[in-house]
Amino acid sequence: MDVIQRPQQLSRQILMKVLLLGVIIVSIATIVCYFIIYDQSKQRSLASLRQYMLERKQLEDRVFIDAHNDLSLFRDEFLKLYRSDMDFTDDDFWTMYFVDADKATRMKERFFSGFINKHLGRSWGVTSFIGNNQPVEDRDFMRRLLIAYILVNRYGPAWASTGMLHASYPENGITIFSPDAPWGLQAEPDLPMNELGTIKATLQSVNPERKPVWTGLYYDETVDRWTITFEMPVDYEGRHLVNPSLDVHLASIMRRLDSDSLEGTNSYIISKNGFLVAHPGKLRDELKRQGTLSLDKIGDPDLTRMYQELSHATPDADGISIVEDDDGGNYLIAAELSGPEWWLVMALPETLLVKEAHQAARIVLLFGFLLFVAYYVAVCVVITRHVKAPLRSLQEATSLVAKGEYNTVIQSPQLLPLQQKNEIGQLAGMFLNMCQEINDAQSNLQGLVDSRTQELEAANIQLRRLSLLDGLTGIHNRRSFDRDIGAVFRQVQNGVESFFLMLIDVDHFKAFNDIHGHAAGDVALRTVAQLVAGNIRKEDRAYRYGGEEIAVIFNTGDEDAAYACGERIVEAVRGAAIEHRGSPHGLVTISAGMVRYSDRFQTVTDMVNVADACLYEAKSSGRNCLVTDAVE
Ligand code: GH3
Ligand code: MG
Ligand code: MG
Repeated sequence: MDVIQRPQQLSRQILMKVLLLGVIIVSIATIVCYFIIYDQSKQRSLASLRQYMLERKQLEDRVFIDAHNDLSLFRDEFLKLYRSDMDFTDDDFWTMYFVDADKATRMKERFFSGFINKHLGRSWGVTSFIGNNQPVEDRDFMRRLLIAYILVNRYGPAWASTGMLHASYPENGITIFSPDAPWGLQAEPDLPMNELGTIKATLQSVNPERKPVWTGLYYDETVDRWTITFEMPVDYEGRHLVNPSLDVHLASIMRRLDSDSLEGTNSYIISKNGFLVAHPGKLRDELKRQGTLSLDKIGDPDLTRMYQELSHATPDADGISIVEDDDGGNYLIAAELSGPEWWLVMALPETLLVKEAHQAARIVLLFGFLLFVAYYVAVCVVITRHVKAPLRSLQEATSLVAKGEYNTVIQSPQLLPLQQKNEIGQLAGMFLNMCQEINDAQSNLQGLVDSRTQELEAANIQLRRLSLLDGLTGIHNRRSFDRDIGAVFRQVQNGVESFFLMLIDVDHFKAFNDIHGHAAGDVALRTVAQLVAGNIRKEDRAYRYGGEEIAVIFNTGDEDAAYACGERIVEAVRGAAIEHRGSPHGLVTISAGMVRYSDRFQTVTDMVNVADACLYEAKSSGRNCLVTDAVE
């Protein structure tokens, strides 16, 4: 039973192992792929975000770079004119300026309302104001005021899209292009401009490095505009001459902070000195009122942490920093803007990256699973064709052999997987050879058994025959007599024809031995026995009853025939004329007693005793005669 089930278990075991191994391999591959894809997805996303941030930086930097280029041009032109041989008279100056009742010096109104001058071309939208604490007497100051006017008038309208152009002086004065309002005509006469933060930041005492400065970010509610002032102090031979300045409009930057943010991300602007400049959420309104907000004052732990993390980050060559904000679960991508010292910051929730990695891993898992199913089906087909089916063929052939049907297997070799070019095919070939050899051996064995059986049967017949014959005389022995007399006795009792029993004894045989020798006695005894056997019919049988005594069973009911046969036997022995010097007759003779079956005999012994009595009577009557049962 085990042998029959094993092939099924084998293929199932192989398939189960393949299944188990496949699941393990696909699981490991999926886990590894997940982490690889997660990492690659993260790197790819961060790289594309970095690229996006770089492009945003380049876009947002434009306005600051433009402002810088504009003011550099202004500076260069100013210095060129300042160093030139440009000449003017005081009258020339005072045709442009006047001192008002409060002793403040202002540019005349027509420079704002507009006129055409043959030297200066069209002039409009320009006003100028010098506080009443600063009388204009110095020729150099006048020269600077005139040069600044030329340049503000020239460039103010052209740069209006970037910002409003003005030029301030360390002497508490300003020349401004402001076509919307005559600012210089309306300013309070005692306005201390160079004490305000914006102009103060350009003074040599405050700004010894003479760096351009970005100051005074504010929100102009009337025109919904964010503005920051860019100022470039211009010195010549150690003297502070003028500050060309642009009130740069930041509308585009602020608008893009909301509109161009990537989905799921938040964008901020934080200044490097710890102020929040722009925020997409609830702080926006507060920022509009204040311009900037100190992070310390806001007290938002997320903003403070982001600021600290960015402060410690090292930007790459393009000025982009990428920081992993573990506590906030974000990636921070920050770009340093070229103008004010600001960071444009984008916060990307890490969950967005994980989501993408999960999607990619799910695809890998699905493909892995489908690939494995296809592979498993292929393995099932291969195992079925090359293992299960051949083994089943072998199993069926084996069960035929177990039933002894070698010939079926030998005559139908297609039952075996002989076509397999592998160990199973070899096994099938060996199995077929084994069947042939067993079949041959069995045929030989069967032949041998048949011949041995025949010999044995012949020997048995011979043995059986010999066991019923007497070795010396060749007639039946006493055992045969006992068997036959019992049988005929029962047959006669059952109504079959009667029978006769004759007991024969050789006369004076002791003396024969004594005189002629024992060997001659044997010969004589054999001769007597053969004479007896030779004188009865084939239906009758002679037996050596014991010693020199012989019994004869006559299977007949014919009394005359039996008696006659008895007489003939006695006569035949005497007629054989075997010399017997110890007998009164001089020859070997026999005495015999014969009795017919009668129902007075209860047993064989009863009948034998009567025959024996007849024999005894024959002896007594002189021997060499037959005495029959006289009772009947
Ligand atoms: P009787 O006429 O009264 O029968 O005399 P007997 O000598 O034949 O009687 P007894 O029974 O005394 O002797 C039988 C003898 O037969 C004795 C024995 O030696 C001899 N005898 C019996 N069987 C054999 C045998 O097989 N071979 C030979 N040679 N002698 C035998
Ligand atoms: Mg005797
Ligand atoms: Mg005798």
